[in-house]
Amino acid sequence: MPDAAQVRSFIDDAVRWRKTGDEALLLRLIRSSCSGVPHDVGAAYATLAGRTGDLLDAIDRGRLALPPPERDRVLLFARRARLVRALPDDSPEEALRSAIATTFEAQELVTLRQAQGDTVVELAEPVEREEAGGVARWQKHFSASALNAYGECARKWFYRYACAAVEDPGSSASAYGTAFHLALEDFHGDFPRPRGAERSAMRSRMRECVTWAFERNRDGFETRVEFELQVRRAQRTAQRYVDWLLAQELEAPFEVLGREVSAELDLDGRAFVGFIDRLDRDERTGDIGVVDYKTGSIATSAAEYGEKVRRFRDFQLPFYYWARTAAGDRVTKLVLIPLKDALLDVRPVVLEVGKTIKLADLERSRERMIELSTLLASGEIRRFEPTENAAACTYCAYQTACAGKPPAEAQRFGS
Ligand code: SF4
Repeated sequence: MPDAAQVRSFIDDAVRWRKTGDEALLLRLIRSSCSGVPHDVGAAYATLAGRTGDLLDAIDRGRLALPPPERDRVLLFARRARLVRALPDDSPEEALRSAIATTFEAQELVTLRQAQGDTVVELAEPVEREEAGGVARWQKHFSASALNAYGECARKWFYRYACAAVEDPGSSASAYGTAFHLALEDFHGDFPRPRGAERSAMRSRMRECVTWAFERNRDGFETRVEFELQVRRAQRTAQRYVDWLLAQELEAPFEVLGREVSAELDLDGRAFVGFIDRLDRDERTGDIGVVDYKTGSIATSAAEYGEKVRRFRDFQLPFYYWARTAAGDRVTKLVLIPLKDALLDVRPVVLEVGKTIKLADLERSRERMIELSTLLASGEIRRFEPTENAAACTYCAYQTACAGKPPAEAQRFGS
């Protein structure tokens, strides 16, 4: 015998079925204890109709061989369902609910249950839905990586920054990146001015820096084999980096002014912070170059990275540009150094300000940083939409929790 809550849920489903014609709701109705159909019979018909697609037609055709009393109850259910379906389209919601309750004798079921000594319950009006509120104002500092996360997927920003949901504990890829950054920071402490005459000393010192930095991050690698493989990869890549430094020095001598330089910027009252991997000064012109090491996948050309900036998909180098400009530097170069592939020569992606990246694009990026930080600090965002780009979900730490993520990209097979 159903209780009041079950009756209410049954009527809710019937109203929705009446409005939408959704067959799945009708299948739920026949399985309900309010349907008047024995549960095993209702479940059997629901399974059958799940395959054939039309429950009422299956009942009309008597697709299941049933004893007469059960067959009569199934036919009665079908008749009642059709009565509900025939209710006028313009029926007000309350009249619809009342007609459905009457058709299925729902109130009588509840009364009968109460008469049998069950807890006395009354059908209650549904509680008014609470109005959705915004997510609490973001009151901490901002960073380019937070805005990048928002640009990539607003839902990811919500999980990571608003909920502070538990992040993944890290991967060997992130440990590799951390260790490599540390090695280069140490190396340039000893060699702020690469010189061809010191080639051998630079190579040797680089090997020591990589060994030491990876030892310090050994816990980030799951197995000893993984650790050893990644150290070898880093050693090969680091030597290619030395090759590039020396070639660069011949072309345009430079000095490393700073490593892990703190970048702070006030944008319309909002504090942005970050760290610049390396800051260079061109020895001939005094111009400043901002350098960012990348041990993961990155844009492969200045044009590609410039497009990401224009589409507000990446704020990192624009943020560094504005932070150093505010600090009084004449920044002319923004450089990404790929350090992922040990088999390839190091070929940086260089954006020359005013040439391969327009000042207007950097200005627009700055304005967008202000807009986004203002929005995130407003507490007015009601909903953080998941991305439509399934590729962004591939390595997302919140995949399991994220019900709204787009369908996975089709698997690709190669011959
Ligand atoms: S799984 Fe995809 S949609 Fe969900 S938060 Fe992550 S990136 Fe966004």
